[in-house]
Parts: sequence; structure tokens; C-alpha cells
Amino acid sequence: MIKIDLIKKLGLSDDEINLYGTDFLLQYLKYHHNTTYYVSTILFLGFEGEELNSLKSKAKGNGLEVKERIGELTFVCVNENFKDSKRINKAKEYDVFFINKNEFLEIFKEGEYLVNKNENVYIKSIREEFRIIKPLSNFDFTAKVKSFSFTSDFEYDVNLYKGTCNCSDYTNNRRFGYQQGDLRRYCKHMIWYYRDVFKPREFFGVKEYLIENCYSLKKDFRRIDLPKVEKPIYFSYDLNGQDCDIYFPYKNNVYEKYCYDFKNEYFDFDEKPNGYVRDLRLELNKIFRPEKEFYKKKKTRAEKKEIDANVNGCIYFFVFIVIVLFLIFS
Ligand SMILES: [Zn+2]
Repeated sequence: MIKIDLIKKLGLSDDEINLYGTDFLLQYLKYHHNTTYYVSTILFLGFEGEELNSLKSKAKGNGLEVKERIGELTFVCVNENFKDSKRINKAKEYDVFFINKNEFLEIFKEGEYLVNKNENVYIKSIREEFRIIKPLSNFDFTAKVKSFSFTSDFEYDVNLYKGTCNCSDYTNNRRFGYQQGDLRRYCKHMIWYYRDVFKPREFFGVKEYLIENCYSLKKDFRRIDLPKVEKPIYFSYDLNGQDCDIYFPYKNNVYEKYCYDFKNEYFDFDEKPNGYVRDLRLELNKIFRPEKEFYKKKKTRAEKKEIDANVNGCIYFFVFIVIVLFLIFS
């Protein structure tokens, strides 16, 4: 019963308890709970001596910041014998999770991160490069995320549980068409909130680079392997646009982003992966040149039609003149 109460207190529903089970949800909540100003904090009330020290060190070991004062906090852990109602009431003025010692020990149990082993939140059918942990209903609220533009102070509404944002990138690029748990669903505002508040863990490679830098993906995505490059290179583009983002892997899992204008065939700001440009261009041409050829062919066909029309026009005119001349002289 303590487990169910605790899970609900931290914002999850009965349906989720039935679907995922209590042990999984407690594991999830240990790492993915709503934080205060992007940091998970805790205050212990009514504990002292050895007991307090051991609780504090356990909290720190789990990445929590231990606070000494009542204020904006994530958790307030209260000793059951603590009767200072004045301090408790003061803590209640803030939006915090009140837990007791047993509950604290229940959430912050020892153990490795296993959330990504659950196929209901880390969906196997989604390609590995896009697959992210799907936030549960403790993230079902609207968060305000500031525009990334220097010239705008607009704030967007992000809901991680519903997987929505009200920005134009989200709507225009029909990101809602991708399922929850797919990084392509995320615009940069969602990635930013996901990174700083949901705090995903245990993700590597290009996915880590995209999330760390809040780079959102375009509609099409291609993995390229070059003989001279150890890890795959990724192209992210939309054929209706004109830019292809290139995520290029260097040593030690370091990626670099380059932007290639495939309509005009140049690298923006002339920034390119030196030493690999020739090979890379061959790969880029394979994707973007056929499109150009296709349009060229279409264009030639249209031009041919136009010429045919002109020729036909001349013939009709010539026949018309002959008839007129024939009528005049006959
Ligand atoms: Zn957005």
C-alpha cells in the first residue's frame, strides 16, 4: 500500500500502476520526477545525528541537492515524530512532495537504471536513433518554454506527457504524427524541457548529441557509412526544404553539426568536415541530385511541349495564309 500511495502522490495514475507495476514506477520516479528549477532538492525535517547523516549521504548519492531551509523544494522528508507544525505548515506553502523516511528509502533504493529495459516506455519498434523514454503522466502539465529566438520573448506551451508544443515547427511539420517516444515528434522547445526537467539518462551517440544541443530532427533521416569514418554519419533533411543537417562523428563520441544547402550545393558558412568533403558530397549527390534530375526532366518535358505548341501554331498560321491566298486568287 505504501508503494501505491507514494506513486500516486508523485503524480502517476491507477491505470499506470496497473500497466507498469509498482516496482517499475518507483524506479522511474527515482530518476524522472518533476524538479524545482531543474534541480532535484530535498530537506530533511526532524532527523538528527547518525540517522540524518546517513539520509543526507543517500540523497547526495542519488543526485539530490540537500537543503537546510524551507523554500522551493522538490521533496521534504519529515520524521514521523516531528511535531513542529509551524515548520511543516511553512513547508506546505510551497509546491513540494511530502514524504516520510520509508517512502524516501522506497524511491531511492540502490540499483542500476533499468527504465530503458521496459518496452512500454522505451518502444522497440522505434528506430534506435530516435527512441527516447516516453514521459508518464507525472509530466502531464503545461510548461512555459521561452522562444530560442533572440528577438522574441514569446513563451511556448509544452506538455511532455501529451507530447505537444504550440510552436509552428510542431504544427507545420506535423510532428504530432510521430508516436510518443520518438525524437522526431520533438521540436526544440520540447527537447529543451525534456533535457532539463525530465532528465533522460543512458543515451548515447547521435541521440545524446541532439538532445544535449536541443537540435530537432527534420522529416527525413539517413544513416551513412563512410569507409574512413568509424561511426555512422547522419543526414537530417526535408526534400521540401533546402537544408540538410549533417551530424558528423569525430573521435571520442564527439559530433559536429554541419548544414548543407542542397538546392545550391554548398555548406553554410563554408563549414565542412575537412578531409571528408569529397566522399560526403558523393553521398549527398546520391540523395539530392536525383531530385534535381527529376525536376530537370520535368522541366525539359514542359519545354518540349512549349516548343511543340509553337511549331503547331506556325503550321496553322501557314495553312491559314495559304487558304486566304487561294481564296483571293481563285
Ligand atoms: Zn515547439
